[in-house]
Amino acid sequence: MEGRRDVSHGRGAGLRRGGLTAPALRSGDRLREECGIFGIWGAENAARLTYAGLYSLQHRGQESAGIVTSDGAEFHYHRGLGLVSDVFSGTALEPLMGHIAIGHNRYSTTGSSLLQNAQPLVVNYHHGKLALGHNGNLVNAVPLRQDMERRGSIFQTTSDSEVILHLIARAKARDVEEAIPEALSVCQGAYSLVLLAGDRLIGIRDPRGFRPLCLGRRGDAHILASETCALDIVGAEFLREIEPGEMVIIDGKGVRSRRALAPLPTRFCVFELIYFSRPDSVVFGTSVDLIRRRLGRRLAEEHPADADIVISVPDSSNSAALGFSEASGIPFELGLIRNHYVGRTFIAPVQMKRDFGVNLKFNAVRRILNGQRVVVVDDSIVRGTTSRSLVTMLRDAGAREIHFRVSSPPIGWSCYYGIDTPNRRELIASSHTVAEIQRYLGVESLGYLSMEGLRSCVDRPDDHCFACFNGDYAERYGEEMDKLAMERAAARAVSRS
Ligand code: SF4
Repeated sequence: MEGRRDVSHGRGAGLRRGGLTAPALRSGDRLREECGIFGIWGAENAARLTYAGLYSLQHRGQESAGIVTSDGAEFHYHRGLGLVSDVFSGTALEPLMGHIAIGHNRYSTTGSSLLQNAQPLVVNYHHGKLALGHNGNLVNAVPLRQDMERRGSIFQTTSDSEVILHLIARAKARDVEEAIPEALSVCQGAYSLVLLAGDRLIGIRDPRGFRPLCLGRRGDAHILASETCALDIVGAEFLREIEPGEMVIIDGKGVRSRRALAPLPTRFCVFELIYFSRPDSVVFGTSVDLIRRRLGRRLAEEHPADADIVISVPDSSNSAALGFSEASGIPFELGLIRNHYVGRTFIAPVQMKRDFGVNLKFNAVRRILNGQRVVVVDDSIVRGTTSRSLVTMLRDAGAREIHFRVSSPPIGWSCYYGIDTPNRRELIASSHTVAEIQRYLGVESLGYLSMEGLRSCVDRPDDHCFACFNGDYAERYGEEMDKLAMERAAARAVSRS
């Protein structure tokens, strides 16, 4: 944006905290993780291991969870809305028999949060049974769906993932190993998939590799998972990542691999490294913690601050704040404490958020902050409403000066590849300069990591997607491709009929 710089300084405490149109306070002032997927072949307790894997991937989706198991013939499945521990409480795992399983945690990036959209999706089609777990977002799901509906297909969900199942069912190829690449050849966008087909576990990643997918081994069993933290929890060894465009087939003959999709320039989602993935995971070939430390160190070099302590906005900013502290020599302190049990509440969650806002999730440690000049490191600013509330909280706890540092560049563009970003108009950096954002937050200084700085911290930067920072989208997208695009398409289909 013209005139926008990635840092701004000035006295914040006395500034008028207005001067720009503040976005309305919304409950979700974070980019939302997309989904977590897990698959295992060859374990007696496949359902329990999948449960553990989903548990470790809970950060990737908290709206629904599901597991499908198979003994090679019959499918058993259970899905529900809520956290993994809620969906599989009591005896829910007991009927899930078989040595093969796939599982899915969902945060809806397309389709609303309904049980019918919970995954894995399971279908019976002319070649047998098929189950699918999808992480990512198809940018051409709406036209694909409309085309199939015109030709008689009936959809059960409003999820873009069902489009993939229909395409597989309609493929000319008779064997699923051929039908999957045939189906995906017309799909654009982001997809890491686990599929259960008969007695085969299949994993495939889109040709650009937007979302991660890794392969591990536990004894004789093989595992596919979104992140390596899901291998760690079940005591599995990390073998390698699935390559962009690669399909792996796991069955009684072992693991087979083939390049199933025509190659395209790689676009690893850089936000997996900045925020989405867990710091104890290895993603896109590198430790996420290591990358975040680099981001923090570079941030300290680009935007030093004269301050007494560095604090993070926990937990996703911890590694970057430690990197800032290491490079600056300013001690790291725990000035904000996060309530890890916020999740879903049965006491009117919307009202709870309205009444208590950011206090529900964070609390400030007065003993640490009182009278201090504080550097606050956060991984990103989306609408700005949470950051502004946190600043108020820190002031109330006695912080004398607040220097806000962000370990990524300003987010000015929405994501169409499986991350739920607000409409572009609601992204504060899409229409305001850093100086304006600083005034809005009411801080003494504000510094964002530069694009050059971000690129310097990731390995193979040319292979990454930076579209939410620079608008350089690798795949064309329909204007209306947001979270509810499939609902609108379904409603149009009904009104036409
Ligand atoms: S637009 Fe941003 S969040 Fe979306 S895939 Fe690209 S880097 Fe990731």
